Amino acid sequence: MSRAAIFLPLVLVAASLSGCLGIQPDDEGMDGVEACDEQQYWHQISAENPYPGLNCEAPGPSKTLAVNFFVYKNKNGEDWLANETTLDTGIELINSVYNPSGIHFARANIVYVDMIFPNVTDEYQSAPIDNRTNESKADDGDNVAIGQLGDGFIEGYEPTMVNIVLMSDGWGAYSLYPWHPRDHYVNFVRAATFATSHIPSHELGHFLGLYHTHQYYDSLDSDSDLDRASSYWADDWVIPDAQCYRTGDFICGTPYDCYRWCEEVLGCNASDLYEGEKPGQQPSEAPQCTEEQHNPSLTNLMSRYGDRSEITDDQGARARYFVQFMIDNDRNGNHLVLYES
Ligand SMILES: [Zn+2]
Repeated sequence: MSRAAIFLPLVLVAASLSGCLGIQPDDEGMDGVEACDEQQYWHQISAENPYPGLNCEAPGPSKTLAVNFFVYKNKNGEDWLANETTLDTGIELINSVYNPSGIHFARANIVYVDMIFPNVTDEYQSAPIDNRTNESKADDGDNVAIGQLGDGFIEGYEPTMVNIVLMSDGWGAYSLYPWHPRDHYVNFVRAATFATSHIPSHELGHFLGLYHTHQYYDSLDSDSDLDRASSYWADDWVIPDAQCYRTGDFICGTPYDCYRWCEEVLGCNASDLYEGEKPGQQPSEAPQCTEEQHNPSLTNLMSRYGDRSEITDDQGARARYFVQFMIDNDRNGNHLVLYES
């Protein structure tokens, strides 16, 4: 009796599985490339492949994150800092960077906060130093504090979504890493360039756990930077086989980048690479770095040079790792939930 009772459900499961598998040959048939499944693309990591989906020949299933936008009034209070077209165009640009890695962003909500965005010169205690990634062009004092954003922000904040605040000019864009304990994880970007700049994609890179390409630049000969990272996020990670996944920005696809500190680390000068980015740089006596000494990507999204716009496959895989991290973990009441249209 009991055997028969167990047998029937098994048959049903087998039938539904084969029905699923029946769809697969079309995907594989194209040029013999087998797409990874959700488990392989988003979850499985090993010492050899420390981020999920690194060995996938074709992208696996994508995931869509809901974006909650905050839009404030402009300086004279007559108009909003951004409209739907601005936001949608900007999201399209962001998606052009992240879609190849299976990560999509969708505009889920706009919170119109009926107040003029605070002026840069307004007196207010700035956010604590570890609460931000110190974006270029912004002095340490130029980060807007949560308390400046008004009750409309607190009420409109969505702990299950990606929250993006559109700022007025003058403020420097910045974002929060997913592993720091915070009540509010916010991406701050400028409204005026949201639709045309890769800075929002760069900020979302930090939100998705990507470091600058010059992270831990000072330990060139170090075997591992994991000790310095472990108190934040690496405790539950694997210890990767490859050194380039244990040092610097923990990405193998981004060549070493000494950025502003090449003289002290390498003894050569690479200031020509960021001349436009860091005006006022002192002339250097050190010889110019050769390509063998220093050849960082100038176009990588997480670099600090001018033309950043791309991420490598392993940066995309690391971003997937932290998307899943934010889905799986409750962080001070923040718990990412996938977007359903
Ligand atoms: Zn940055």
